[in-house]
Amino acid sequence: MINAKSRDIIFTSSGTEADNMAITGVVLKNMNRGKHIITSRIEHHAVENPCKIWERDGFKVTWLPVDKYGLININELEKAISEETILISIMFANNEIGTIEPIKQIGAIAHEHGIIFHTDAVQAFGKVPIDVEGMNIDLLSASAHKIYGPKGIGLLYMRNKGLNNYGEKYISPIMWGGGHEKEMRPSTVAVPLISGFAKATELCQEEMKGESKRQIQLRDKIINNILKNIDDSILNGHPTQRLPNNINISFKYVDGESIVLDLDLDGIEVSTGSACSSKSLDPSHVLLAIGLRKQDAQGSMRATIGRFTTESEVDYFLEKLPLVIDRLRKLSPLKRE
Ligand code: PLP
Repeated sequence: MINAKSRDIIFTSSGTEADNMAITGVVLKNMNRGKHIITSRIEHHAVENPCKIWERDGFKVTWLPVDKYGLININELEKAISEETILISIMFANNEIGTIEPIKQIGAIAHEHGIIFHTDAVQAFGKVPIDVEGMNIDLLSASAHKIYGPKGIGLLYMRNKGLNNYGEKYISPIMWGGGHEKEMRPSTVAVPLISGFAKATELCQEEMKGESKRQIQLRDKIINNILKNIDDSILNGHPTQRLPNNINISFKYVDGESIVLDLDLDGIEVSTGSACSSKSLDPSHVLLAIGLRKQDAQGSMRATIGRFTTESEVDYFLEKLPLVIDRLRKLSPLKRE
């Protein structure tokens, strides 16, 4: 699926653990060489928070800004690199706005400078082609539940079993115990979950090409219909360089939470901002990073298409959504300027 050798894969309990291992594992092994990490402002909390922990403990972290589509700037990345840089961690595709980052270019720059490159591919894995060789990726995180596999199992790809050109480890474990998973991740191996992950990957790989084409058609049908038929709606994320299944729109003068509740009454499930942080009422850090005002970020809705979403379900959604937005705007205390 990612053009990796099986010896370079270790299994973790989740995408979150794989992200933590990539960041903290590289820091623990390389802190004598330098104390600088480059990442972006739109990372998932599973990358953002371990970087913040190291920043608290004296590391310098460059939080690269993104443009209005959520793309990092390659020149700014290159400018941020210093003698102290030990890790670049940029996500493959964003979980909220679906934007796909220029991973191949990032990998090329990282390798030119001899810096380890990690990408959080939890959202991209199984949805878009990934080639760890062609894209110069050293470390990659993925998670089974995003491709209909079991919850509680993820993986970390480590180029050359975690060894550099001199045969030395460039990443350390972050847990210590038995010698499982090439002494990189102790604990009894979760065979049933790994088998489920493998089967889901196999099915996903068989269907990815046709399925992503089908999802792109449905995605664009939804986006175009909303932008045309609902006033004051703004697409968040890149119009084409985005995940096949992701739609993220801000509706002015409404609250995202009310959209979620109203659509739920019609049997339609969407989320505000990021479902990963649905317990927080703060506006999404991703939407603020692409330049949305706080009130517009709060009126955002993320809808995702799945393998089992049909065209008639999309039509039903497109019939109900304008009615919901219209009703909420009539009730809304948020005034048009
Ligand atoms: N990274 C991204 C981009 C995600 O979207 C998610 C989960 O939604 C994660 C990491 C965390 O993965 P997991 O739920 O397997 O810990």
